[in-house]
Amino acid sequence: MVNEQLLNTTLAALKSDMSREAAALFVDLIADYLDLAKAVTKPVSTELGPEELSARLAQPFPRQGQSLDKVVEQFNRDILPDVVRLVHPGYMSVPVAPPLPVTVWMESLIGALNQSTRAFAMSPTATMVERQIIRWLTEQIGFGETAGGTFTSGGTEANFTALLAARAQMLPDAWQEGISSEPPVVLCGENAHYTVFRAVAQLGLGQRRAITIPLRNFCLDTEALASKLQELACSQTKVMAVVATVGAFGTGSFDDLAAIADLCETYSVWLHVDGAHGASALLSEKHRGSLCGIERANSVTWDAHKMMLMPLSASTLLVKEERSLEKAFGSLEVSQSSNEQWTRSFMASRRADALKVWIALHRYGTDGLGILYEHLCLLTQQFYEMVSKRTDFEAFHVPTCNILCFRYVGDRSLPQSALNDLNRQLYKHFNRSGRGLIAAFRIENHFTLRVTLMNPFTQLEHLHVLLDSLTEFAQSLNEGLSGV
Ligand SMILES: *Cc1c(COP(=O)(O)O)cnc(C)c1O
Repeated sequence: MVNEQLLNTTLAALKSDMSREAAALFVDLIADYLDLAKAVTKPVSTELGPEELSARLAQPFPRQGQSLDKVVEQFNRDILPDVVRLVHPGYMSVPVAPPLPVTVWMESLIGALNQSTRAFAMSPTATMVERQIIRWLTEQIGFGETAGGTFTSGGTEANFTALLAARAQMLPDAWQEGISSEPPVVLCGENAHYTVFRAVAQLGLGQRRAITIPLRNFCLDTEALASKLQELACSQTKVMAVVATVGAFGTGSFDDLAAIADLCETYSVWLHVDGAHGASALLSEKHRGSLCGIERANSVTWDAHKMMLMPLSASTLLVKEERSLEKAFGSLEVSQSSNEQWTRSFMASRRADALKVWIALHRYGTDGLGILYEHLCLLTQQFYEMVSKRTDFEAFHVPTCNILCFRYVGDRSLPQSALNDLNRQLYKHFNRSGRGLIAAFRIENHFTLRVTLMNPFTQLEHLHVLLDSLTEFAQSLNEGLSGV
């Protein structure tokens, strides 16, 4: 016997939560949050650590429901105040987007519809939207008619899937038989994302078979790549793939795709381009030249949740030959025209993330998204000039997209190790201040401060606040030290 009374109150709760009044509670929370982009009234991040936050949340297991008003109020009190506010124009830390507003609203609709793009029958329109978006993106890359792809949970899954496809091409028996005792190697620059190394390990090749090629001017050194390929050919070591990176995680560098494609063609090696961050440069007339040669890749990772400013998750893996993805997942015989995306995907149940990309493309156009990309890159260039003009700061590189590594150097009298310590302190101080949020990145032995500008509403004044705050903290640390 079910508890009729409990069932009835629960069903009544479901009904009442389907109302417009219930929706309005959430719309208000979101709209208040988005208002921060116009007038900053709250810090970017919280000062509280894991202990304080977990203590606040450690309430008894909630067996009984409460009214929606009460729960929303509790959320507003206990959770919302201490989020990292990506809409705050002072947010400049790791590349996570303050989402395009139309995609924020669309997320609710994606949840409401809950179309699983595993199978066409479960998501007829959403599946075809996914396939259409993949067609558009592969056209941007310059792939031909036989191209295809899949939405993924992120660049991580996209990189993994790309290398799985490369493995299926080189070792077609691996799906059934596993990896032989002499696995092939994968080459990538020292600027490659850590998920590339993980993918090599996950694929059973052994992480030591991910061979890193040194950098020149922050990009994969193509001469070093040429001699490594030559050396491996001489020792008859199989090379499963070369991974090039555009918009590298650390400095935003773009590898020379045309030169790398030449080498991959010479040695008949699968070329994967990790464009999680940088592939969106294709949307800008000004920047697409930095991806020259991308059309010669076998596979490309392109995250819409990076520089297309979508909410997590929206990412794609695009391949020159759609069939290579089906083979990646063990299919020997698949008709070219299959509309079943599960045949090309790591996932079974799959979110209809394509719908938010669809609405953003229609609302803002590729022109709109392209101009935001240009704007964020230009702002980073202006920040670079601002840093370069000051004697107490130095930049580590000219920005090639929206990422810059720099540091405070004061009067330039401090030795290297003291500079690292000082910048580490400044990083902590600034992020705790609530005025902004930045990241850190190690370049050789240098501790550098890193900004990634993702918020279209960040302005030069916010960058001035950053440099002035860092100077102010450096002076107070200095006084603190001399006072001891
Ligand atoms: C962000 C990023 C990744 C990882 O992608 P996720 O979407 O975080 O899974 C991989 N490569 C590069 C270059 C990235 O910037």
